[in-house]
Amino acid sequence: MHPQLRAPIKLTLCVTNTCNLNCIHCYSDCTREPDPRELTTVEWKRFIDHLVENKVMQAFIEGGEPFFRSDFLEILEHCSRRMNLIVRTFANQITEELAERLKELKVGLVCVDLLGARPETHDAHVGTRGSFELGIKGARNLVAAGVPIYTLMILTRRNISELQEYVDLAHALGATKAAALRLYPLGRSKRRWDELSLSLPEMMQALQSVKVPEGFRFIHSWHPNDGNSCYQMSCVSPFGKSIGCPYLREYIDLGDVREKSFVDTWHDPLWTELRSGNVSDSCSQCHDTQGSVGGCRATAFAFHGRWDAPDPYCAQMNQGVDLQRLPQQLFWKKPWVQE
Ligand code: SF4
Ligand code: SF4
Repeated sequence: MHPQLRAPIKLTLCVTNTCNLNCIHCYSDCTREPDPRELTTVEWKRFIDHLVENKVMQAFIEGGEPFFRSDFLEILEHCSRRMNLIVRTFANQITEELAERLKELKVGLVCVDLLGARPETHDAHVGTRGSFELGIKGARNLVAAGVPIYTLMILTRRNISELQEYVDLAHALGATKAAALRLYPLGRSKRRWDELSLSLPEMMQALQSVKVPEGFRFIHSWHPNDGNSCYQMSCVSPFGKSIGCPYLREYIDLGDVREKSFVDTWHDPLWTELRSGNVSDSCSQCHDTQGSVGGCRATAFAFHGRWDAPDPYCAQMNQGVDLQRLPQQLFWKKPWVQE
């Protein structure tokens, strides 16, 4: 069981649902034009003050594409020096000047998304020609300014053959590490699952065959490497909804932080239960070595429809789940409505 914290240690702020790209897998089904329901600048600042008062130590900021929001630097400035800051971006707007500004604002880490190691693969994945080159330039500007980066690649059928090249590219860019992330059945990826998803053996084989350059780190989000970390984190959507984790965005709504104290949503009975690590099946070895209990709740729920189910992205706990077939309930009802 995990400890129950008074407030999360880390919080993901999805500051906008807008973006300048058009990824085929986009979990947030983002748009170019801002949705008027998004939190305003003042509302984000008020919310950040509430986090600081409640001793939330780390903000992981993502979108959409955070830099596509016109007041993003103002929001970032409001967090600066009050919390540890991590920003996730496709980096295609990061000029030399902007990289310097991020350094001044004490952004501790920038996670740069790549969806392939080659321009044609990445650009096709993000639906925007030229974005690979701009993203690589942005990543280089960050490294040159002294802002640490690490790279992320969501593994799909379209880029799995470039996994090794991707790791080598991240190393050559000067990233501190490279990460491979599993694909989640959310937003557009859910609708294109047949085309993008991979079987568990295909993914495990690819991950295990990576040759990591000396002195470099390669991490990935397949259980058991990725424990259940819900207990220490939470997330707020661009629309002010407390949702626990970005990967739970279609399953959980703990309340609107404009109407309710965020800390109260943290103590919502469902989120308290999910954080507890009370699961039906968990691997004792993983528990002993890394305190992991049952793996990721988002994928467990997506494939089993139960909060206490085991994470099927683990060879030990897969229980015969075919990861290339999505349960129909993900399409025909709000999955958080449980019988
Ligand atoms: S996945 Fe991210 S970068 Fe891609 S379209 Fe969606 S919000 Fe934009
Ligand atoms: S739902 Fe999964 S990805 Fe989200 S915090 Fe929990 S374990 Fe991590």
